[in-house]
Amino acid sequence: MSMANKIPRVPVREQDPQRRATNFEEVCYGYDTEEAQTEASRCLHCKHPRCVEACPVNIRIPDFIAALHEGDPARAAAIIGEDSSLPSVCGRVCPQETQCEGACILGIKGEPVAIGKLERYVGDWQLEHAAEPVRTAPRNGHRVAVVGSGPAGLACASDLAKMGYEVKIFEALHKVGGVLVYGIPEFRLPKERIVAREIEAVRALGVEFETDVIVGRTVTVDSLLDDEGFEAVFIGSGAGLPRFMGIAGENLNGVVSANEFLTRTNLMHAYDPAYDTPIQVGRRVVVVGGGNVAMDAVRTAKRLGAEATIVYRRSEKELPARAEEVHHARMEGIEFRMLTNPVEVLGDEKGWVRGIRCVEMELGEPDASGRRAPVPKAGSEFELACDVVVMALGTSPNPLLAATTAGLATDRRGCISADAAGATTRAGVFAGGDAVTGAATVILAMGAGRAAAKAIDGYIRSLAQ
Ligand SMILES: Cc1cc2nc3c(=O)[nH]c(=O)nc-3n(C[C@H](O)[C@H](O)[C@H](O)COP(=O)(O)OP(=O)(O)OC[C@H]3O[C@@H](n4cnc5c(N)ncnc54)[C@H](O)[C@@H]3O)c2cc1C
Ligand code: SF4
Repeated sequence: MSMANKIPRVPVREQDPQRRATNFEEVCYGYDTEEAQTEASRCLHCKHPRCVEACPVNIRIPDFIAALHEGDPARAAAIIGEDSSLPSVCGRVCPQETQCEGACILGIKGEPVAIGKLERYVGDWQLEHAAEPVRTAPRNGHRVAVVGSGPAGLACASDLAKMGYEVKIFEALHKVGGVLVYGIPEFRLPKERIVAREIEAVRALGVEFETDVIVGRTVTVDSLLDDEGFEAVFIGSGAGLPRFMGIAGENLNGVVSANEFLTRTNLMHAYDPAYDTPIQVGRRVVVVGGGNVAMDAVRTAKRLGAEATIVYRRSEKELPARAEEVHHARMEGIEFRMLTNPVEVLGDEKGWVRGIRCVEMELGEPDASGRRAPVPKAGSEFELACDVVVMALGTSPNPLLAATTAGLATDRRGCISADAAGATTRAGVFAGGDAVTGAATVILAMGAGRAAAKAIDGYIRSLAQ
């Protein structure tokens, strides 16, 4: 065995849990140059690197780590850039523990290489030292429209711009970035320092943005193709339609979706006294759900000054959120009520939430998802007092685009039907990201956007022949 794996994994510096539970500054500080170099020295540069296979976009991980170890972050950035257009974002938010790091050979007997933190270091280095982006191909005179400015749309647009296409992104909200700006909180993904700069890099490639345009209302996919001179459209409209439980009391004042709660804080700066965005927090907030979105909502509620509790119907083992997020939430003082399910939201005489009635659950036989199904325990109902209930139960794609675009098929979950290259059932219309898969991850959305850019290029070339 090489000496390399005798070096322990370099711990990453984080903001003190008690202090950070009261502010929105980034929790994790990342590695400095010396720490990154030391961590990079742990990689064994495996001949058949399992980490690369486990990365959804197959970043050449040992090669970028070697470049970093040799003191050449510019080369490391170029290697990552072959497969990923958002390293500073993905280094922060990818579920590395189930992807690259989950497969790293060093993880079998010890701690895997901190691939995510190294990627973040390289991405941030690149943002600090960014040279003017160079258009890699002259403009080819062809125009493509992109619907939605999340990771799928941004990745598709930048690849097409690099190939010479004129690309315009239409975004329904007043700010571009999709979930990166309206969903994932500032304390995990800084908006100005990281997201805005990644978006600037896309703009610098010549991509145009038009905000406050709801495709399907203001314009349609058909009008973009037929009247506005676009030869192809990429739909990266995400999965922003929240699900609710369908229980009594859900329409009381004080019940909100996690999307709305997070949009008000992130996009509309409700946490900043300089903004007058209203947000209902009260003294006690209950967040229903156990995914990343639930963790983001509950940690946000805590930072807004509430006592914040997670209510989740399965056990800790089944929590779908990333382990790091659960760990951070616990350290910040979030209460977890596992094996608990709300059956009714309770209101006061004025129609405001005063609590939820819950039932205790136990785990039965595995269900269709392969996880043991939660079953209510008879006679175990109890009340939990709270002022606000945030529902974080998952989301699905908004049906608007499918309803207003002729010939665009969807599956039974309302997701747009598309093949691996992003081609939909309508010629010239491509789609990818959460709009196709349902709520998934940034890296998968980005990968889908890039695959579609290739397919769109092939399609437009075929028209020209
Ligand atoms: C709170 C939260 C936390 C998350 N945490 C993580 C994480 O830690 N790690 C991770 O990998 N993933 C995480 N995800 C999931 C990840 O953010 C998504 O999978 C990813 O952003 C999907 O990218 P997308 O481009 O497909 O869609 P989105 O990012 O949703 O972007 C779609 C964009 O399209 C716009 N749009 C929609 N309809 C229209 C229309 N008709 N016309 C014009 N524009 C339209 C929307 O306004 C939006 O800006 C999280 C999601 C949420 C909500
Ligand atoms: S599996 Fe781990 S040790 Fe091997 S190349 Fe990948 S990061 Fe390096």
